[in-house]
Amino acid sequence: MNCDLHTHTNASDGALSPNELLELAAENLVDLLAITDHDTLQAYADLDTQQSKSVTIVAGIELSTAWSGRGIHVVGLNIDPENEILQRGVELQQQARQARAREIANRLTRLGIDNPYDAVRVLAGNAGIGRPHFAQHLVTTGVVRDRRTAFTKYLGAGKLGDVKQCWATLDDVISWIRAAGGDAVLAHPNKYKLTSTKLRLLLAEFVDIGGTAIEVVCGRQHESVTRQLADLARDFGLAASCGSDFHDPGNVWSRPGGFPPLPASLRMVWESW
Ligand code: AMP
Ligand code: MN
Ligand code: MN
Ligand code: MN
Repeated sequence: MNCDLHTHTNASDGALSPNELLELAAENLVDLLAITDHDTLQAYADLDTQQSKSVTIVAGIELSTAWSGRGIHVVGLNIDPENEILQRGVELQQQARQARAREIANRLTRLGIDNPYDAVRVLAGNAGIGRPHFAQHLVTTGVVRDRRTAFTKYLGAGKLGDVKQCWATLDDVISWIRAAGGDAVLAHPNKYKLTSTKLRLLLAEFVDIGGTAIEVVCGRQHESVTRQLADLARDFGLAASCGSDFHDPGNVWSRPGGFPPLPASLRMVWESW
């Protein structure tokens, strides 16, 4: 079964509408798809679930939080998007995202960048404003040559635009996901640049407060990473999840369903659904 349990649409920082993503997932022979936009469930309101009979949809979300001074993402899977506790949490995250966008814009203005807030508001359209929108603005105005440089110089971890103190706590985001009947999955654990000791500390706390799964495969990754994360799944008794973290068909390295398989020996997160 081809399960892609981590994807984005234009309800957050992805390029495709929910229905376009569904169509592309079907073309790529995805059987089970979760749309996991950043801090929003809007895609599920826009989705025409009649459109593709070959793809089963499971509701998801990617929630932003912080732990030990670092931005961390928790994916919620198999959630009830109508759950009121989750919806109230999402509302708080949207307000936090809005306040954060103002703060990032203020900081960039102090650097001499002209009117960033209005520009990213337009770029985001109906979606919540994210750092990729600021990255796009920095490219368009010629401050940096590409989005990647925008992150390494201005927006990435530890840089001026890395504002994360606004998010709900790890405890809160996991409790919202659990309240909505979902599995809380630690997203892309190898992207936080944590030492292995710190990652283990995070996982111990994550399990303690109700986390149930870990993303063992996220997009294209080296075999050694898969092995290391599979070991962590076993050590902490977590189920395994996988996904492309697909955002944009313009990125030739990323497509729905495009990632190496999970080691078959693991307990898969979807087995309990
Ligand atoms: P935000 O949700 O506003 O914190 O923005 C985080 C998003 O920015 C991630 O989900 C990625 O889509 C994107 N992103 C993070 N780091 C990078 C990077 N180094 N280069 C390009 N995009 C990035
Ligand atoms: Mn993103
Ligand atoms: Mn993420
Ligand atoms: Mn993501």
